[in-house]
Amino acid sequence: MLVHVGASKADQDNTLPDVVVLPYGETPSTCAPCAVHRWVALMNAVDRRQTMTLLYAYQLDVHVCGKAGTSPGLISSADLMSGAPFLRATYRNRRSARIHEQGITGDALHTMLLARMAEAGMNPSAYGFHSLRAGHVTQARRNGASTEEIMRAGRWRKAETVNVYDREFNPAARNSVMRLGL
Ligand SMILES: [Zn+2]
Repeated sequence: MLVHVGASKADQDNTLPDVVVLPYGETPSTCAPCAVHRWVALMNAVDRRQTMTLLYAYQLDVHVCGKAGTSPGLISSADLMSGAPFLRATYRNRRSARIHEQGITGDALHTMLLARMAEAGMNPSAYGFHSLRAGHVTQARRNGASTEEIMRAGRWRKAETVNVYDREFNPAARNSVMRLGL
């Protein structure tokens, strides 16, 4: 899935290449296109009743993104034509859910990130949005990505910026002593 970013924090004059790539996930729970399909379908629900019906009908263990060999996907290009913000303020309790027209605030996104981390059994106190960049850089390097590839993904112009987000804490990882053939 290709996402056109426009002006952003990393590119306030919008001079960098405009496209961020969201690859299909190996599993539905790690699949960003699946998350986009589910979210856009929710935003396009006509009322609260339909929103709740969709929420309870979602099976989180199947791809809904149209990944090759799966169903055609929950949404089509026509569902993406809205000019409203993509990330919007939400309200939900056990019986009701509402998606507002206005965009979500940075504070609310931060709160959401910390809540998800706590649900995953992590201690959220030392984390914030920069942790997402740090996690990307550190894991991508562990998996063999070059600095150039990471610059492309993060739309960074300088290699030093990649290094700022490198949080390798395992002394043996990416350490040439491990390649001495001992
Ligand atoms: Zn998917």
